[in-house]
Amino acid sequence: MIAEHGDWVARDLAHVWHPCTQMREHPDTLPLIPIARGDGAWLIGTDGQRYLDAVSSWWTNIHGHAHPAIAAAIAQQAGQLEHVMLAGFTHAPAIELAERLIDIAPTSADRKPLNRVFYADNGSSAVEVALKLAYHWFVNRGAPERNVFVALENGYHGETLGALSVGDIPLYRKTYAPLLTQAHFTPVPVRTPFATEAEQIAAADAAADALDAYLRDNGAQVCAVIVEPLLQCAGGMLTYHPRWLQRARAACDRHGVLLILDEIATGFGRTGTLFAAEQAGIQPDLMCVSKGLTGGALPLAAVLATEHVYEAFLDDSRERAFLHSHSYTGNPVVCAAALASLKLFEDNDVIGRNKTLAASMQARAQSLRSLDPVADIRPCGMVVAFDLRPGGDWSRSFDPAKRVGLRAYRAALSRGVVLRPLGDVLYWMPPYCVTESELDLLLDVTAHAIREATQ
Ligand SMILES: *Cc1c(COP(=O)(O)O)cnc(C)c1O
Repeated sequence: MIAEHGDWVARDLAHVWHPCTQMREHPDTLPLIPIARGDGAWLIGTDGQRYLDAVSSWWTNIHGHAHPAIAAAIAQQAGQLEHVMLAGFTHAPAIELAERLIDIAPTSADRKPLNRVFYADNGSSAVEVALKLAYHWFVNRGAPERNVFVALENGYHGETLGALSVGDIPLYRKTYAPLLTQAHFTPVPVRTPFATEAEQIAAADAAADALDAYLRDNGAQVCAVIVEPLLQCAGGMLTYHPRWLQRARAACDRHGVLLILDEIATGFGRTGTLFAAEQAGIQPDLMCVSKGLTGGALPLAAVLATEHVYEAFLDDSRERAFLHSHSYTGNPVVCAAALASLKLFEDNDVIGRNKTLAASMQARAQSLRSLDPVADIRPCGMVVAFDLRPGGDWSRSFDPAKRVGLRAYRAALSRGVVLRPLGDVLYWMPPYCVTESELDLLLDVTAHAIREATQ
């Protein structure tokens, strides 16, 4: 039902404090759009206006909005058991979801599989869990001096203080820097526009050499390396070659350091495979998932660990146990939503069908290459990113005061498409139910938005 109220914006702005927003910009510079419902790849405003959700509502939505199978699973579970604490109790959705996640997690022949699941409520909490687990694992093994985390330059792992400590995006980090724990940032493979595979491999090797050298000299202080595999998301949709991950895995092994893969954004098919790690053929010691885990319906996260990690926490003392807890850990309703989403992957061969969809998305993206400001096009599975630079010159940037990203956002919105640029990087990241004709619209509107934003 379309809401009758015309004053949602005023009522919202009287009390609601929005995420990732300079509230002063609402509503004049930055429109605030009341949404009444969702339908497939579309969001529908209270005024009946439709918007194609080309960014999958911050990575979360993968099968389309208000999916009937997920909605039914939520309703069924809520009517049966809505919640029970997971300490001392358990229930079918938490058990089945753990079994499913272990079943589909990346493996490699050279190590014991991921075999344990710790639940959290959101991506940042999952990162906190993984960081604490990694450090605690070394404490339990008698090496408390290993208290340094290594992360990739330009990486993003969330907004809580631990997650910010391993994040390297100044806009989010700088203000809180005095509160953060020690981390070392290792170079990310240098990106050149329209890079060939040989160029990408050379860049991956150079960056991996730097990690190797750092760990050789400082490895005894390091507990874990944490990275976003293949695609740095909030950092501007930068992609790098799987070779870097293979080399990072080897370097971690050589220096006895744990490897944490943050698959929060890349997981559940976004990079073309169910998990990005598969493309490098590697397995982490700890893996964080969230965002697409419930198909975008409810907040849930999980950290997967190997038996090797788990075993070090078993003892007669409570101190050696991992006492981390959230009140809603493993909530039955959210676990049921995740199970319904994973079933859709299976029933509809989503990963197989996405291959065709990704190819047609990438073909359309190439046609934007002729637009003057498009300086690079980076496809990565079900994502395509476009860098906008003055005259398409990679070495230059638009004056930030020009607000190119914001102008592109507004131009696309006025034509019924949600693009949400990261600075001057535009990207397509639609739900996997997107159709060819919706992709046509997306292409058309993106071309308009680029012209309007950069003229
Ligand atoms: C979004 C994101 C997070 C944080 O997840 P939240 O649910 O927003 O806290 C962590 N890591 C990566 C790679 C992300 O993209």
